[in-house]
Amino acid sequence: GNRTFTMLKPDAVEKGHIGAILDQINASGFRIVAMKLTQMTTADAETFYAVHKERPFFGELVEFMTRGPIVAAILEKENAVEDFRTLIGATNPEDAAEGTIRKKYAASVGENAVHGSDSDENAAIEGAFHFAGREMF
Ligand code: ATP
Repeated sequence: GNRTFTMLKPDAVEKGHIGAILDQINASGFRIVAMKLTQMTTADAETFYAVHKERPFFGELVEFMTRGPIVAAILEKENAVEDFRTLIGATNPEDAAEGTIRKKYAASVGENAVHGSDSDENAAIEGAFHFAGREMF
């Protein structure tokens, strides 16, 4: 697959890291196919993270993801899903490799700066959740 979906999460936007993170994404060979500043509603976040609804952190995750604007984007590159997850690093920034986006910009396992789809199938579902066809280039 050659596309993935990302969100720069509310913590990254609040701290003013949009530009630096997008620079690193571009410098790593990803082309921006679609992008916008938007804010998820509670219903949006509950739907987007439905797979986690039985997890103890679900309420905290929904609160966090809805507390302010995010940058949603679709990215294109050969092997996009896997290469983007390598670029962002482990879910917990303490475990993330040096130089990864989460190592540089994430504060904790919950407030971890960025999302990256975990499969080609989810990349397509998540991209379509946020963007209409005419918003994709
Ligand atoms: P993402 O789906 O955001 O790319 P991921 O695939 O690395 O992250 P998941 O295990 O799918 O990680 O968890 C989804 C999100 O839920 C995490 O990015 C994080 O924001 C939150 N989360 C995961 N584990 C915890 C936890 N133990 N405590 C609080 N929040 C958590």
